[in-house]
Amino acid sequence: MGTSIREGNVIGVNGNMVAVNFNENVMQNEVAYVVVGEERFKAEVIRVKGKSADLQVFEDTTGIMIGNRVEFSGDLLSLELGPGLIGQVFDGLQNPLPQLAEKYGFFLKRGAYLKALDYEKKWEFTPSVQVKDKVHAGDSLGTVPENMFKHRIMVPFDLKGEFEVIKILEKGDYSISTKVASLKDEAGKTHDVTMVQSWPVKIPIKAYVEKLKPVEPLVTKLRLIDTLVPVAVGGTFCTPGPFGAGKTVLQHLLSRHAEVDLVIVAACGERAGEVVEILEEFPELIDPKTNRSLMERTIIICNTSSMPVAARESSVYTAVTLAEYYRQMGLNVLLLADSTSRWAQAMREMSGRLEEIPGEEAFPAYLESRIASFYERAGLVKLRDGGKGSVTIGGAVSPAGGNFEEPVTQATLKVVGAFHGLSRDRANARRYPSIDPLDSWSKYTSFIDSDKVKKGQDILKKSNSVDQMMKVVGEEGTSTGEFIDYLKGEFLDFVYLQQNAFDKTDEATDAKRQKYIYDIIVNIIDKEFKFENKDDARRFFMELRQMFINMNSVNFESDEFKKNEQEVQSKISV
Ligand code: ADP
Ligand code: MG
Repeated sequence: MGTSIREGNVIGVNGNMVAVNFNENVMQNEVAYVVVGEERFKAEVIRVKGKSADLQVFEDTTGIMIGNRVEFSGDLLSLELGPGLIGQVFDGLQNPLPQLAEKYGFFLKRGAYLKALDYEKKWEFTPSVQVKDKVHAGDSLGTVPENMFKHRIMVPFDLKGEFEVIKILEKGDYSISTKVASLKDEAGKTHDVTMVQSWPVKIPIKAYVEKLKPVEPLVTKLRLIDTLVPVAVGGTFCTPGPFGAGKTVLQHLLSRHAEVDLVIVAACGERAGEVVEILEEFPELIDPKTNRSLMERTIIICNTSSMPVAARESSVYTAVTLAEYYRQMGLNVLLLADSTSRWAQAMREMSGRLEEIPGEEAFPAYLESRIASFYERAGLVKLRDGGKGSVTIGGAVSPAGGNFEEPVTQATLKVVGAFHGLSRDRANARRYPSIDPLDSWSKYTSFIDSDKVKKGQDILKKSNSVDQMMKVVGEEGTSTGEFIDYLKGEFLDFVYLQQNAFDKTDEATDAKRQKYIYDIIVNIIDKEFKFENKDDARRFFMELRQMFINMNSVNFESDEFKKNEQEVQSKISV
């Protein structure tokens, strides 16, 4: 923590980069303020060279001049962590956006930093430890209800060693700055604990016992993902895709339907207005699990392209730090970043201004390691109380022209556990979700038996190769057997892989229902149909497809479902 104020002076300005001279010591990544008249602009030290440093200013730097005073804080760029984060919309520096937007529109006033949390509000605290108990960093001292969660008030993550509880407040309503506990360290020193702690965004929170291998499937309720390219609880995945292929729609579906406790959305808009859309749309969304607002289990970190590049760069760190904080409470958190290409572009811009030696496509040489260390913050962890928590990270990637051979996509593919590549062709054919079922892959296991998954993959491959062949030799050039394989693959795609995001029932399929209908499909794939000719075969599968689609749009437990299923069964038994 900073004690004495250390100062410097601006010696150069280049976009958001400000060069500063100073006399004392300055720390890499510490927060500094550039003072311009009455205003103080937040900045971060990103490079120290002898007695000068480069700072990135999180603001429009218009008006900053040579000679302006700079104050170094001694603190790393940090978040305020405490009850009241859920349901909020923050920018990359944890300024609550709607409050600012009300006053200033969607453009932040320069130098306006609002507290992330409400310091007036009272929370009902229930202690979970007693005087004389021994505790460590990350252990719960008590809880307050935050929406449907028990928000744990934890021993600050930066306290090292064992502590004895020497004072703990009894149950009651307190504001977050109230000292709820006092702890004594091994040397006899006392530490007061409030309901809010601060944590540097670029350092992972590691107050857990160990990281466990992510093995349990995370049910997303999107059939294509869950069956063919599954995600694990605490795992990572990426969604590269060309502009307009459906990355954002897919992430919204995941945020609504994936079986997790909390969703954190890091939105770096691709289009102007996209972020405003999110702010308008999300509060309207209903959580299908609770029938209440989805925002009750969501936090949004929002950046528009009009925000300074440095604020954009920090937003993914802000998002993942919030995710780790709630993981520490035993929750399963899903972090969705859209789009990480924007983040990489922010790195590129900053690196350019620092005149660093550029790597491929002018991205900095450390691009790969930054991407890796972001995804490494995902994970399933065992907590000290024996419970578990997880952070699952999914990142959209938007390579220019949809070419996956570019540095951001390639660096991401090296570190993630699943690749959901969106295909322009599928999107153009309105086959949604437009994840390419043949190119995409996952290192995780599905809740569907692997031999059945393989049957699906095999028929898709066969179907695709017959399709390619027909483009050359026409339908006449294929045998009836080949043509049936083609129809089976198309059938699997239309009735199972594709999902109608606008149908209340079809948009999300739970694990039980997926297993059930996938079994019927595998029976169809396995069955040797005898048709007189290709037209008969085509007609048969068209009728079957319609029956299946009817079945997909009714409730699983309903009589209608049974009726539809009987029709399907009798159709395939002839
Ligand atoms: P991206 O984020 O990849 O640029 P979007 O997610 O914004 O693309 O999708 C672009 C458009 O494609 C949407 O506005 C919508 O019309 C259509 N679309 C994408 N996914 C779906 C889907 N699952 N169902 C129906 N339409 C979709
Ligand atoms: Mg998008």
